[in-house]
Order: sequence, then C-alpha cells, then structure tokens
Amino acid sequence: NTFAEIDLVEALNQNIRRCKYVKPTPVQRHAIPISLTGRDLMACAQTGSGKTAAFCFPIISGIMKGQFSQRPRGARTVYPLALILSPTRELSCQIHEEARKFSYQTGVRVVVAYGGAPINQQLRDLERGVDILVATPGRLVDLLERARVSLQMIRYLALDEADRMLDMGFEPQIRRIVEQMDMPPRGVRQTLLFSATFPKEIQRLASDFLSNYIFLAV
Ligand code: AMP
Repeated sequence: NTFAEIDLVEALNQNIRRCKYVKPTPVQRHAIPISLTGRDLMACAQTGSGKTAAFCFPIISGIMKGQFSQRPRGARTVYPLALILSPTRELSCQIHEEARKFSYQTGVRVVVAYGGAPINQQLRDLERGVDILVATPGRLVDLLERARVSLQMIRYLALDEADRMLDMGFEPQIRRIVEQMDMPPRGVRQTLLFSATFPKEIQRLASDFLSNYIFLAV
C-alpha cells in the first residue's frame, strides 16, 4: 500500500515524497480514493490520524485537473474554489502549513483566515489570489459580510473537526456559510466532513450538507 497506487497528479506525488510520507494512514487509504471519485464523504478521524492530507490531496488534485469557469476578477472580492473550515486558529494554521507543502509548485494558492488576529494582513493575502481558503467560521462570516470573499465558485468544502466546531457554538455560522454556497449559480459541490464523534447533531449536519454520501469509520 503506497501513495503511488492512488491516482494523484504527479506534482502532488512529488510533494508527498518531499514530506517523507511513505505509506498512507488508514483514513488516507480509504478516504482519498473515495473522494477522488467525487462522492461526498463523512469520515471518522481523530487528531493524528492523517486527516489533513486525507482531505487536502483530493482537493488539490481536483483543482489541478479541473476545468473551472472563469472566476470574476477585479473589485475586491475573491472567489476561492475550495473551503476548509476548522474550529480554531491553531488548527487552521496547521492545515494551512500542510496544505502549502502539499501544493508546492502546483500553482494552487492557499490562504488562511482566522479570528483573534488583525484582519488587514489576511485581506492582503486574499487579494493576491486564493484557490483554497482555510478559515475559522467566525472570521469567514466577517469576510463574507465585508464582501471580500464570495463562496459562489466553491467546488470543494471540507469541514474538519466538525464535532468541535459544534461544541464551540459555530453551527449558526456554518449554516450561514453553507447557505451562501447554495445560492445560484451553484455548480456541483463536493463535501467532505471529518469528525471524531458522531452525535445526532453531526448526523443532522451531514444529512443537510452532504448528498448521497459514503460513511467511513476506520
Ligand atoms: P493530522 O492527523 O492530519 O494532523 O496528521 C498528523 C501528523 O502525521 C502530521 O504531522 C502529518 O504530517 C503526519 N502524517 C500524515 N500522513 C502521514 C503519512 N502518510 N505518513 C507519515 N506521516 C504522516
């Protein structure tokens, strides 16, 4: 079992080698091939399971292979293709760091935005262009209200540590965010939901946000 057996773009395979990943972790071994088929996925994954790569690889691969309609330019609004939502600044920064390594020399641009820090640097980062936005829910709602980010072109949505986001009270923000993606003209969105636990609240979120999804528990 190697990464070479998974059909990823070559630039990504090179970055995986640079990261010295030899074997996929169990969640990666199952989640990546499922995600590459385009199916929605709800996956059980603890911290340290390698879940970051499990949702980043299919997203980066999809963006590199994808044919996307021209995104609007100008004004001050940016139109990311992928959104990764995570509960905290620390986790968002970790995901951003890893996603940047995975997307090295691929042309895929990753930007992070989180609360509890001045917004100005994040606005400047966004203005330089973004394909994958990693964000905490509160800060993203702020960016949407300022019309600095539009979710109209989102093709990939990953929710990381979804149970923690709900525990922290982010459900209203998450619902507002996802509603914006459902506004026309909506293309096909692939949604990947990662959570350590599966209480009723998470199952409800999954049935509201995911369609015809595969449930993965490893
Ligand atoms: P995560 O669960 O995504 O936070 O990953 C936990 C740690 O494992 C991170 O430091 C990753 O860089 C590392 N990691 C993830 N996947 C692999 C892999 N297939 N082989 C070796 N290390 C990995």
